[in-house]
Amino acid sequence: MARILMFHMNNLGNNQFVNPWSEEEIRILKEHYPFDIKENIQNLLKKRTWKSIIQKANTIGLKRKIRVKLLLDFKFTEETSYILGIYLGDASITKYGIFLYVKDEDFADAFFQSLSFIGLRPRKKKYEELYAVYAYSIKFIQWLEQQDIKTIRDVLNNNKEFAINFIRGLYDSEGGYYPEQGKLMIISNINFELVSFIKELIMRHLKIESKLFIKTKRENSFSKSPIYTLFIFKKSEIEKFLKIVDSNIYRKSYKHFIQFNSKKCIRCGIIFIPKSRKQLYCDKCRIIVSKEKQRLYKRISYQKRHGLLEKHGDTMFKHLSPYRQQTSYSLWQ
Ligand SMILES: [Zn+2]
Repeated sequence: MARILMFHMNNLGNNQFVNPWSEEEIRILKEHYPFDIKENIQNLLKKRTWKSIIQKANTIGLKRKIRVKLLLDFKFTEETSYILGIYLGDASITKYGIFLYVKDEDFADAFFQSLSFIGLRPRKKKYEELYAVYAYSIKFIQWLEQQDIKTIRDVLNNNKEFAINFIRGLYDSEGGYYPEQGKLMIISNINFELVSFIKELIMRHLKIESKLFIKTKRENSFSKSPIYTLFIFKKSEIEKFLKIVDSNIYRKSYKHFIQFNSKKCIRCGIIFIPKSRKQLYCDKCRIIVSKEKQRLYKRISYQKRHGLLEKHGDTMFKHLSPYRQQTSYSLWQ
C-alpha cells in the first residue's frame, strides 16, 4: 500500500498530496480552464505545472473547450467583416465568447455559418421567441476588441467587398426595410462617429446618398443620449442598396423588395418593377404601346380631318381605364 502511494507521489511530482490546491487556485482553475489560453492559465497558476493543472481539472470534471485552431490570429476577411458589423450592431461579447440573441432564424443561421467559416465552433439554441447563437474564442474576441473606428476606416475605405459585408452585418442587426412607408433604414445607433462613417462608406462604395437623422427624445428608454439613424428614401436607391448589400433576413432582403414592388405587365405578362404606381407595362412594352398610341392618334386625327369620326370624336374612350382604353383601341383597329 505504502509502495503504491510512493509510486504515485513520484509520478505526479508536485502533486496534490504534498502541495494541496488552495480554494483560490481552484476558483481560478474553474474560471479560466475551459476557455482561456494556456499561457494565461499558467501565468495565473505559477506554482503548478501544465501537467498538474490538467490532472486537477480532470479530477474536478473540467474540460477544455478551446481548441488549438482558435489560437490562430484573425484578420479582416469578408466573413470577419460581416461578424464585426453584427458585433457593432446586435451581438454582445464576454471575455471568452460572442453571443447573438435574435428573433429571425435566417439571421441566426447566417451568423452561425460565418462563425463556422472562420474556424470557430458555434452553437445555436432556441429560447421561446428567440434564437441564441454563440461561440467561444478568446483570440477572436481580442481581435474584435482591437477594432476601432480608425482601424475599421482604413481597411474598409480601401476594400469594397469587406465594406459591403460589414454594412450587411450592421443592416442585418439594426436596419429595416419598410416598403409601405417607402423607406429603408440602414443603421440606428448612439455612436455618431460610426453612423457618419457608414454614411461616408455607402457614398464611397455604392454611390448612394443616405440621410442622417438625429432623435434626442427617445421613447421607452432611460438613456438620454441622442440616437442617429441613416435612411434611404428614393426607391431606385433602395433597390440599388439591396441589390448590392442585400440581407440574410427575408423581410430586409432584395427578394422582399422585388416581391413587394413587382407588377405583372398587362401586355406581355413579365414581372417588372414599376417606376410609379401608374405604370402598367414593362419597359419594353411601354415603348411599343406608346408607339401604337401615337399611330392611333395620328389615324384618329386623320379621320377627324376627313370627317370620318364625326359622331364619337376622340372622347369616346376617355371614361375607360388605360387598360380598357388600350383593349378598346385594339378592337376598334
Ligand atoms: Zn411587357
